Amino acid sequence: MSTMAEAAFRQGLAGIAFTEHVEWVPEDGATGYLRPAAYFAELETLRVHYGNRFWLLAGAEVGNSHDYREEARGFLDAWPWDYVLGSAHWADELPVWEPVAFDEGLDSAIERYFRELAQLAELGEYDVLAHFDLVRRDAWSILGERLDLTPYSDLIHEALRVVVERGKGLEINTSALGQGLEEPLPGLEILRWYRELGGEILVFGSDAHHPEQLGRGFDQARSLALAAGFERLARFQGRRVVEWIPL
Ligand SMILES: [Zn+2]
Repeated sequence: MSTMAEAAFRQGLAGIAFTEHVEWVPEDGATGYLRPAAYFAELETLRVHYGNRFWLLAGAEVGNSHDYREEARGFLDAWPWDYVLGSAHWADELPVWEPVAFDEGLDSAIERYFRELAQLAELGEYDVLAHFDLVRRDAWSILGERLDLTPYSDLIHEALRVVVERGKGLEINTSALGQGLEEPLPGLEILRWYRELGGEILVFGSDAHHPEQLGRGFDQARSLALAAGFERLARFQGRRVVEWIPL
């Protein structure tokens, strides 16, 4: 955590949210990985070290919380989280990042993913939905396919509408840019739909698993957000938006 914080600080970012993976699916490698006590102890040390020069948010990327509602609530209530990403890493009990998710064809994989996401959006525990069109990154990395999601507009709107109704947000996840895709997750079309539906809460996430990936593509994310009609980013603390940062 100290390596990541120092890399973000040196890059001139205003702060960082550590969004460690949290899962309950037994087959998922992230299940049982996070040790919250150790996590919060190190975070506290970093907060003392940086003082008010840099904010450090206690985040978590919680997978399929709609399938594990009690576990998710217990986990989130037990610790002072600032910011919770919600992810659908499993759809119909299939890992969306593995080839098996595409065994029945592209169309069925896309529909399965967005149906699961709509469930998560409606019933899950989260502040911001992570990598909204993750299936686009997986179709690219597994099949080398660039997806056109326009035909899935109805399904996608279903999920977006619930996000807006519940007062939740979207992340622009820039990890796909480092993998050869032209647009982050989601891209301009979905961002516009979210904005048209009244969506306001937007954050950037580099999904960095290594220090050199921190903040990658944020310039492009900013241009896209502006093009989609957004003027500001949300900053969370204690699982509420406490500040709006002009783009
Ligand atoms: Zn994820």
